[in-house]
Amino acid sequence: MNPEVTSEPERVLNAVKAWKKQGLSVGLVPTMGFLHEGHASLIRRARLDNDRVAVSIFVNPKQFSPSEDLDSYPRDMEHDLEICRAEGVDLVFNPEPGQMYPDGFQTSVAVDKLASGLCGASRPGHFTGVCTVVSKLFNITRPDRAYFGRKDAQQLAVIKRMARDMNMDVEIVGCPTVREPDGLAKSSRNSYLDAEERKAALCLRNALLRAEETVARGTKDAAEIRAAALKALEAEPLARIDYVAVVDPDSLEDAQGEIGEKALVALAVFIGRTRLIDNTLI
Ligand code: AMP
Repeated sequence: MNPEVTSEPERVLNAVKAWKKQGLSVGLVPTMGFLHEGHASLIRRARLDNDRVAVSIFVNPKQFSPSEDLDSYPRDMEHDLEICRAEGVDLVFNPEPGQMYPDGFQTSVAVDKLASGLCGASRPGHFTGVCTVVSKLFNITRPDRAYFGRKDAQQLAVIKRMARDMNMDVEIVGCPTVREPDGLAKSSRNSYLDAEERKAALCLRNALLRAEETVARGTKDAAEIRAAALKALEAEPLARIDYVAVVDPDSLEDAQGEIGEKALVALAVFIGRTRLIDNTLI
């Protein structure tokens, strides 16, 4: 069946209210479109867990700084709808910026400490934009569960914190990172890479593998683990490092000395003009 496609928040809310009246559960997958297998895996998981699945497709201007790629961000609504159809999505919400942020809009939702390091440090205001739009999407679609990829590990941690802090009655579900056959994490932004950059982009995955190997050899020292990842990135001439960090997976604070039971190795790297991120749990 074809999903209902609408850009009107009111229509979404009414559809969801009708489902809720029938006792049906709702899963939400928020996206910025240009859907790929990573998004599809979130939709499939939502399909398994819920009676109804809503996907939002919205390139949210509030999470881009003026110098970032809002205008060039890839878009392909036809292909997105094909994927939604194939995955049995019930409702696609694709608002225009003016429908999400009408004249006079002046509210934002901000998470403090968790959103300040890593990507938050190099993209000021980014997570406030994310939290603001996700709050709105939660209010519009009233989901029982919402699905986010672990590729965006900080985003997942920030959204979980926001939902807990604001008593949002929604379960936040983190889903595994889907990769290309050669290991590059799938991302809409991979479409910016030319052939040479596409090869160079493998340094992110390689750096994470070097970090994992270091741990497998028995090293627990956070600085040594970080150095192994850093070395792999520095060997790639097209890579410009934004950050390499070994952090606590919940607080996202830098691991000091020996890592505990679990740590997150997180990277952000420019390949040419394209900023890519990836991470692994060690
Ligand atoms: P985006 O459209 O890039 O904002 O991503 C929408 C959602 O899909 C976010 O929760 C992302 O973390 C998730 N996502 C993006 N790429 C992947 C991937 N390769 N594997 C799993 N989830 C992903």
